[in-house]
Amino acid sequence: MNKTFMIIGGDNRLGALAQMLIADGKIVYSFGLDKYPHNIGKINTLISCDICLLPMPLMKNGFNAPLSTNDINLYDILDTINPTTTIFAGGVPDDIYKRYPNLKIIDYLKRPELAILNAIPTAEGAIALAFENMDIILHGCKCLVIGNGRIGKILSNKLSAIGADVTVSARSETDFADIYSKGFKSIHTLNLKDKLSEFDLIINTIPVMVLSREELALVQVDTLIIDLASKPGGTDFIYANELGIKTIHALSLPGKVAPNTSAKFIKDTIYNIIREEGL
Ligand code: NAP
Repeated sequence: MNKTFMIIGGDNRLGALAQMLIADGKIVYSFGLDKYPHNIGKINTLISCDICLLPMPLMKNGFNAPLSTNDINLYDILDTINPTTTIFAGGVPDDIYKRYPNLKIIDYLKRPELAILNAIPTAEGAIALAFENMDIILHGCKCLVIGNGRIGKILSNKLSAIGADVTVSARSETDFADIYSKGFKSIHTLNLKDKLSEFDLIINTIPVMVLSREELALVQVDTLIIDLASKPGGTDFIYANELGIKTIHALSLPGKVAPNTSAKFIKDTIYNIIREEGL
């Protein structure tokens, strides 16, 4: 695998990823990472390469390049890129594929292994937020994890390992069996209202509205709600605020709490794709 890599834009994760690729002996160029404080083959113009790595998420108020001193336009990049280059990006809007049918664009965020790996720093970040924002310890704390997906499963395990009293919400019999097998309490996601008043900490992972006005009215005012679901989240934050319930919509935790670990996960995922696709 002796490919040339061009990394364009992104945050500290892509900077760290560039360093890791260099440490693996790859030829690496970077563009739009000017403010990253290490030598990562920075160049001022796009050049031809085998593999182009774009940020995760690709777009964040325009092309996601917070470490660039100049604005970068995604279309300028894609208009100039050589069609023989394989492009990796995280969270690619559908219209990009339609606009550039001749480009090979692979969305690494769609890879299940990356979603599972990202759930680890997300869970750790959520627990760190709970420590910082509660005046009770997690040991013995009555915690509700809403959703038993990738994040919900890892989070409930970690909370339990700390000694929390864990309840997990789900909707499928498979998930109820999974939750039972771990010794946690369960509740159907449609029946949250039956128990919402019991918890010190509620962490939502379901990307639909699960804590609407009706549910929030039942939550104790000193309960902390951490919502991990992508925008718009699953909580009526405005109403929670009116009720005086503290809420945190904690997004992009992997990049915030563990940029180096996140970079390694992205690198491993990209190597997996390169190997599978024979690139
Ligand atoms: P996941 O594995 O797909 O899990 C989603 C969970 O939501 C599953 O338990 C699913 O239940 C449940 N669910 C989905 N739609 C539902 C509905 N209409 N009613 C009831 N339950 C429903 O996703 P994940 O990887 O855990 O990620 C969860 C969320 O966190 C996503 O929005 C993701 O983008 C976001 N995320 C946030 C961060 C962060 O830093 N905050 C990091 C990574 C991901 P079923 O299995 O029964 O469908």
